[in-house]
Amino acid sequence: MKQDIHDVIIIGGGPAGCNAAIVLARSRRSVLIIDEGKQRNLRSQGMHNYLTRDGVLPTDYIAMAHKELNSYKIPILQARAIKARMLATHGFEVIDNQGNKHLCRRLLMATGVTDKIPDIPGMKELWGCGVYHCPFCDGWECHKQPIGLYARDYNGYGMAQALQHLSGDVILFTDGRQYLKPNQKAHLKALGIKVVAQKVKELAIENKKLLGVVLENGELVPLASMFVEHGHIVNDDLLKQLGCNCTNKGAAITNRQQRTSIPGLYVAGDAAFDIHFVIVAAAEGAKAAVAIHNDLLKTDNLEYA
Ligand SMILES: Cc1cc2nc3c(=O)[nH]c(=O)nc-3n(C[C@H](O)[C@H](O)[C@H](O)COP(=O)(O)OP(=O)(O)OC[C@H]3O[C@@H](n4cnc5c(N)ncnc54)[C@H](O)[C@@H]3O)c2cc1C
Repeated sequence: MKQDIHDVIIIGGGPAGCNAAIVLARSRRSVLIIDEGKQRNLRSQGMHNYLTRDGVLPTDYIAMAHKELNSYKIPILQARAIKARMLATHGFEVIDNQGNKHLCRRLLMATGVTDKIPDIPGMKELWGCGVYHCPFCDGWECHKQPIGLYARDYNGYGMAQALQHLSGDVILFTDGRQYLKPNQKAHLKALGIKVVAQKVKELAIENKKLLGVVLENGELVPLASMFVEHGHIVNDDLLKQLGCNCTNKGAAITNRQQRTSIPGLYVAGDAAFDIHFVIVAAAEGAKAAVAIHNDLLKTDNLEYA
């Protein structure tokens, strides 16, 4: 039996993938979204920096997106794509974790990143609701309150300044590490930022609310919120399989139309190299969709060019 060849397969159904899908469907492209459903910000208590959507729960945002995708009859396959390869016929084959094979002419990767959450008891529990990674996303809600910054594997110097600008009451926890240079220490001191070098034992939590940080010696440092500078991992398995050019941190290198080094492969959202915002991911999805549609138009009309 001949298998359907989608114009586009989109791997990842976050803001980048969903927005690309709507632009493509409105240009009458056949689209399949393959999505595992683990959008990065699902634990957030409200989305920010997206005009008209301030404070919206990410789960509500995704539900709204699905409703709109549904009205264009865009299929969403809830699965994990585990293999992708380029075909000699200038398309791609994608295999999901249920063993199904899917074919497409163009492939958009919108797989996002996975945050590295510090292995300190309490961090995972409060991730997105007391423990945050981005001052732009969650700093406003914490302003004028005592804020902690946990930076064990990074020196935290830059983020400490950003938080101080918001709160005026910041403590940097280095958890036993000594990354700060003497001039950075002096600068933080002048800004009124306290640096605690002792090892951190755990977060103190009551009724799912952060009370503070417990140090190894048992001392409790009261805090209203905790930011972490701990990094993330790009969800790049499939990008690696396809041989896509990436930065040394794993983000795909694209041109301004989200095109990668592999012909026919596009990347949008956090998995590409740019600011990690929902609105940016959605915009990159839209840009990729326009480029893919134009690319297909060009291919289909080649003989008259
Ligand atoms: C706690 C928290 C709060 C945040 N708050 C804000 C905020 O207030 N404002 C803001 O602008 N940004 C915020 N962000 C950042 C925001 O979440 C990201 O910028 C945005 O989600 C990126 O969208 P994306 O589509 O690239 O990736 P994602 O939303 O992460 O979606 C990627 C999707 O791809 C799926 N996927 C990955 N690999 C595969 C695979 N192999 N097969 C199938 N599916 C796959 C994932 O399961 C997921 O569903 C926050 C992030 C966190 C962690």
